[in-house]
Amino acid sequence: MIEQLLDRAQSYVRPIGAQPPASRLLAGRTVANLFTEPSTRTRVSFELAAKRLGADVVNLEVQLSSRVKGESMLDTVYTLQSLHVDVMVIRDAETGVPATVAANVAPHVSILSAGEAHVSHPTQGLLDALTVRQHKGRLDNLSISIVGDIRHSRVARSAYHVFSALGVPDLRIVAPPALMPEPGEFSGCSRHTTLESGLKDTDVVMMLRIQKERMAQAELPDADRYFANYGLTSERLSTARRDAIVMHPQPMNRGIEIASDVADGPSSAIRDQVRNGVAVRMAVLAEVMGSRGAP
Ligand code: ASP
Repeated sequence: MIEQLLDRAQSYVRPIGAQPPASRLLAGRTVANLFTEPSTRTRVSFELAAKRLGADVVNLEVQLSSRVKGESMLDTVYTLQSLHVDVMVIRDAETGVPATVAANVAPHVSILSAGEAHVSHPTQGLLDALTVRQHKGRLDNLSISIVGDIRHSRVARSAYHVFSALGVPDLRIVAPPALMPEPGEFSGCSRHTTLESGLKDTDVVMMLRIQKERMAQAELPDADRYFANYGLTSERLSTARRDAIVMHPQPMNRGIEIASDVADGPSSAIRDQVRNGVAVRMAVLAEVMGSRGAP
């Protein structure tokens, strides 16, 4: 299924500057974006993906919605269901929200996760896999290094799932000890506490943001010290393979986890990731809704 979704997503990719794809596959359908955590790329790309498939889209501004008046998530969801919403795209800081909503909505309503707490960010995992596939062709002979705040990162967890499922043979997690996940997690990955061993001869360097919002103040690493030990500079990148690509889910903290010249340099695939985000979300929406009959 992952490979099918990636193939479908690839068919929606256009060069920047070209006309984006347009389809009527979801005409008459309504997609609601229900985000209770900040988002730039994921929200905008779900909206564009739905519109490019011909759906109507509503974006719920949670600060303005009744949730701040104490209305429960499920009451908000039932309201959307009464308004003929067919797909709800949910991002929430609490774990279990997409599953709870999915268990309670009417069977014709589909729920998509746009990021669940620190647990998962499935469409990010898919767009990361698509980006690697575009640059490297295949994944079953690669070394991929995921670097930074693995412990609190849903991006790292979904990357781990998708890259493991696609058979990446050398998957590494690279982090200071305090930002490593619990020992039972990320099984099969090698663990590295220095960039020297973590980046050596790797094909893909995936950098992560420190998830300040998921840490107590006292746990926060000092920014300068972090950059000195774990920041990706061009010098450090030179220890990876010559054709290694650099990825980052964004938002980036330039000068903390990544140097600006690397983020904007020739090895960077970061803007490709953003472009691929729309294509992947189109593929997921098409997969979920396209097989259903007319509304
Ligand atoms: N945008 C990604 C996420 O929502 C990565 C990040 O925020 O650091 O998880």
